[in-house]
Amino acid sequence: MKKNILNFSKKELEEFFKSIGEPKFRVTQVLDWIYKKKVLDFSSFSNLSKRLREKLEENFVIKTLSIEEIHESKDGSIKIAFKTFDDKYIESVIIPSKDRVTLCISTQIGCNIGCAFCNTARLGLIRNLYTSEILEQYLLSESIINKKITNIVYMGMGEPLVNFDNFLNSLERFISEEYFNFGKRKIVVSTIGIPEKIRRLADFEYAPKISLSLHFSTDEERKKYIPVSYKIDELVESLYYYYKMTNLPITYEYLLLNGINTSQQHMEKLYQIVSLIPKSKINLIPFNEFEGSSFSTPDVEEIERFKEFFKERGIFTSVRTSYGRDISAACGNLGFSLLKRDLVKRDLKRKS
Ligand code: SAH
Repeated sequence: MKKNILNFSKKELEEFFKSIGEPKFRVTQVLDWIYKKKVLDFSSFSNLSKRLREKLEENFVIKTLSIEEIHESKDGSIKIAFKTFDDKYIESVIIPSKDRVTLCISTQIGCNIGCAFCNTARLGLIRNLYTSEILEQYLLSESIINKKITNIVYMGMGEPLVNFDNFLNSLERFISEEYFNFGKRKIVVSTIGIPEKIRRLADFEYAPKISLSLHFSTDEERKKYIPVSYKIDELVESLYYYYKMTNLPITYEYLLLNGINTSQQHMEKLYQIVSLIPKSKINLIPFNEFEGSSFSTPDVEEIERFKEFFKERGIFTSVRTSYGRDISAACGNLGFSLLKRDLVKRDLKRKS
């Protein structure tokens, strides 16, 4: 099988070019076509010799994902389902707003963290995405809208820190000036939190903003709903290191589950945690229901009470607007409809 050129760094391509007797500077030209001009077809690389274009075509591909379905929501968000080379599905969501166009991308097919409130979790982990598949979501998504994507959030299917190496490579491609050149502050990774990986990410040249899916303020409760769950103390320590190294503010995501984590006591414990690192923020997430889910979200007054509590204590909170509810594109809902269809098909095959 031909390899996807997006998986190769500049250095690795330079090695390859050397091996076929092409000068180094040709790599810069190739990267320019792909990462700056976003042309995904070697035959259009007009400043390269025919021989080199043919060599590229013989050895590499640029596109392995195909667009399977596009759903547009009433609120303007667009969900795109991609089919992978091995006939699996992944999803991304484009969220346009007044001053930005955000793309929510996936890092895995399914997920193995097992969060009780997440629909994607029901799939288990099918496989990690390659660096190229993470980047292709961006290139193909941008190609179907008439605007530039300005922000990227790693909040789709999967846990980025579990697919760590490919996630790091994708960050380098998004952030480094040599490739797509997004600012660090334009990219957010949402994670369940693995302390050792958070520290390694903090040391990485292309560390983005980080958002911890905390959701509960005691270890006991967190463990109950998030089976792969590290101690909150250890998580906060690693985030403090992240804050010190990157100088980027930490966000804590807090899913609002009616009758489970919304009492006065919960707010007070959450305050204790969030106030440990200066400039930290809270992103309150109303629960998005899905077929078969047993949780519900509190009413608007209760959400306001939360906001007020933190405002009085000088902590910035935002409430996440969930986009694309009507097209199952909201947080925690990705991938299920398509994959379920696929799983049912597989099941039928097995039975017959
Ligand atoms: N694995 C990463 C990123 C994927 S999920 C993480 O855990 O952060 C992105 C966010 O959506 C996480 O905060 C996740 O906890 C949240 N989420 C999951 N299911 C949800 C649901 N049903 N309603 C609202 N948010 C949900």
